[in-house]
Amino acid sequence: MSSSYHLVSRIDHPGDTLIQVGPVTVGGDAEPALIAGPCSVESREQIMICARAVAEAGGHILRGGCFKPRTSPYSFQGLGYEGLDLLVEAGRAYGLPVVTEVMDSQDVAGVAERADILQIGSRNMQNFTLLKAAGLARKPVMLKRGMMSSIDEWLSAAEYILAAGNPHVILCERGIRTFETATRNTLDLSAVPVVRERTHLPIIVDPSHACGVRRWVTPLTKAAVAVGAHGVMVEFHPDPANALSDGDQSLTLEEFHVLAGALRPVGAAA
Ligand code: PEP
Ligand code: MN
Repeated sequence: MSSSYHLVSRIDHPGDTLIQVGPVTVGGDAEPALIAGPCSVESREQIMICARAVAEAGGHILRGGCFKPRTSPYSFQGLGYEGLDLLVEAGRAYGLPVVTEVMDSQDVAGVAERADILQIGSRNMQNFTLLKAAGLARKPVMLKRGMMSSIDEWLSAAEYILAAGNPHVILCERGIRTFETATRNTLDLSAVPVVRERTHLPIIVDPSHACGVRRWVTPLTKAAVAVGAHGVMVEFHPDPANALSDGDQSLTLEEFHVLAGALRPVGAAA
């Protein structure tokens, strides 16, 4: 086992780390966490509808991007802090903790003041300045796997956050780049048992960014829970055809509701 991540490694820390987010526990033998919401926060009405849907479906945490890492500078960049205030307002209205991405180390304190979990996105997994800043925050961090990163590189990135003083890290597998082009990325479900063996930190799966296509999200979400993920993060939208980002992979409200109901028996069986 690599010594490049001794804080993250299970060797010196055999027990599972549990991350407490408000009333929700992520990790160990806790019920798999259902994290869901739109790719981007777009308006008060949109995020309120989504928060209500998460709560009604028995979901645990509301997601919504406000600072968006878009491939093109001409794509919707997110509503920034204005969106974050709407996300927090919607989460509070329905009793849900919220997770949102922080892209810049200078925004860590501002986002940590408002959000319950700081997300570090795939494109920033090795932004070491950002990792160190997140390590100083007093909020849990969800660290997504870099789309071109090995599991060891990912765990070493997590080590930066722990080494800077923040032990509350959730890992998120979101698909990696391979030769396959039929899916947006290739969901590496093998990462779940491998990561569970190597680290005490919880690992969740994001099937939406992995496959990129709505109709494959439901089966992959079930597979993630079946293989032992501590949670899943799924994108849905009240009107996917008109979503400002990632509409193609966003479930409809109805599909999300059906999925949430179908996950419980899968989690129990796993
Ligand atoms: C997201 O979850 O909003 C996101 C941008 O995902 P990723 O960093 O995995 O591409
Ligand atoms: Mn998205």
